[in-house]
Amino acid sequence: MAPPCAALLLPALAALLAVPAAARAPPRSIAVVGAGLGGSAVSYFLQQHFGPQVQLDVYEQGGVGGRLATVTVNKQQYESRAASIHALSLHMQDFVKTLGLRQRREVLGKSAVFSGEHFVLEETDWYLLNLFRLWWHYGISFLRLQMWVEEVMEKFMRIYKYQAHGYAFSSLEELLHSLGGEAFVNMTRRSVAEALLEVGVTQRFVDDVIAAVLRSSYGQSVLVPAFAGAMSLAGAQGSTWAVEGGNKLVCSGLLKLTKANVIHGRVTGVSLHSSEGRALYQVHYTSSEGQGSAFYDMVVVTTALHPSRSNFSFQNFEPPIDNFPGTFQPSVTSVVHGYLNSSYFGFPDPKLFPFASILTTDTPALFFNAMDNICPVNVSAAFRRKQPQEAAVWRVLSQQPLDRQQLKTLFRSYYSVQVTEWQSHPHYDSAKSLPPIVLHENLFYLSGVEWLASSMEMIAVAAKNVALLAYNRWHQDLEKIDQKDLMHKVKTEL
Ligand SMILES: Cc1cc2nc3c(=O)[nH]c(=O)nc-3n(C[C@H](O)[C@H](O)[C@H](O)COP(=O)(O)OP(=O)(O)OC[C@H]3O[C@@H](n4cnc5c(N)ncnc54)[C@H](O)[C@@H]3O)c2cc1C
Repeated sequence: MAPPCAALLLPALAALLAVPAAARAPPRSIAVVGAGLGGSAVSYFLQQHFGPQVQLDVYEQGGVGGRLATVTVNKQQYESRAASIHALSLHMQDFVKTLGLRQRREVLGKSAVFSGEHFVLEETDWYLLNLFRLWWHYGISFLRLQMWVEEVMEKFMRIYKYQAHGYAFSSLEELLHSLGGEAFVNMTRRSVAEALLEVGVTQRFVDDVIAAVLRSSYGQSVLVPAFAGAMSLAGAQGSTWAVEGGNKLVCSGLLKLTKANVIHGRVTGVSLHSSEGRALYQVHYTSSEGQGSAFYDMVVVTTALHPSRSNFSFQNFEPPIDNFPGTFQPSVTSVVHGYLNSSYFGFPDPKLFPFASILTTDTPALFFNAMDNICPVNVSAAFRRKQPQEAAVWRVLSQQPLDRQQLKTLFRSYYSVQVTEWQSHPHYDSAKSLPPIVLHENLFYLSGVEWLASSMEMIAVAAKNVALLAYNRWHQDLEKIDQKDLMHKVKTEL
């Protein structure tokens, strides 16, 4: 047994003799599956950490940008999918700044909540009148909601500090726990309605307002988990922005900046091999040139692996990688260029229709979730919204494709309709456990974060986490993974 003084010295000596963590050579090559925001952001962060010498191959079966995309109407481009970014989205802000892009100015417009027969809540031009109406209908529910959302957001914002200090999390539960303790983890297990009723929000406010916001963001009911609900309500409360020229420019910009090699092909599988005692991953894909495969030290999957969405498999892994319970919510976006039928909403004179955004309550007979009078991705200083009696571009969100009759109900007449159908967001009450982040030694799954909440900033946060996790694991810097009491640690670190 070593004498006491030697016992004290040994750890210090071992630390001196140890090869510095960062001395291990970086991975030679990394594959990223998917070139949406997740794939682009993780490529950028991986390169920031591992350096420019790492070969980055990004596989994409469709267009770069994934769910960030535009449609062209009358020679102008409009966001067809993910449109608005919350003011406090720090990674998205950073991407825009780094890439020399600009935030698009918000074109103000009023909102209202429609029940299928009448408007249950209408925004006016007067802030005080809006507050008075909210108070008149719902008491102080809106204040309670605001306080609840602010508390969640304040804790969520801790992630930026942790990430700036290089800390990463190996599971979504660990990540949530570090932000808000057990209460945050529980927010994935109970509904937003339950959480809000508990803090004193009235049932009427939940039915009229919370339901409308969740239908317009996730196309789902107030049964979505409290965490996903809070993120969606934060987006609806605060000011939002978008990227001038289209949100998808962030994806193409980040991939260009990292000089990632974009391979246009569909990944069909990842198989495990070993070389000199270390794991090596073979990515199999099909492209217009036929089938191919390549070997990588590390792989990041940024597309959903749940059965209804996944189109590739994992081979030679023990235990097998195949258990991703849950389903995805079908949703349809119709971009319609036409004349609104304001009579349907109780305004026979279209000139008097005041709303740019119509949300809906959870009424079975209603065939759409929300509709917005949208602006092009480039707006000049002189730009003004179309008057309600003019032909405008509307984005209608619905569960099913709109039939002719439904289109005629919403529009007096129209020039064009462009429809996109997707499995857009996780169906939030369908899976109780959260997906893993680490699938194997150096094989990571980014998209599971959508089971917490589905938004651009959540994906960016997950991309940074995966890059840090991959880096810390590669260099065996275990101190930087799943650390407890991080708020205290980051306060005391230089
Ligand atoms: C209608 C709608 C509205 C939304 N609105 C907002 C909003 O206003 N604000 C907000 O913050 N968020 C919004 N979102 C959510 C946001 O779009 C997503 O969270 C985000 O874009 C997801 O990015 P991602 O890279 O994880 O996934 P995706 O964008 O889906 O990217 C995954 C990529 O992987 C590719 N891929 C899939 N399988 C394979 C394979 N086998 N081989 C190769 N490539 C493959 C796909 O083609 C795709 O490009 C909205 C989403 C939808 C659908």
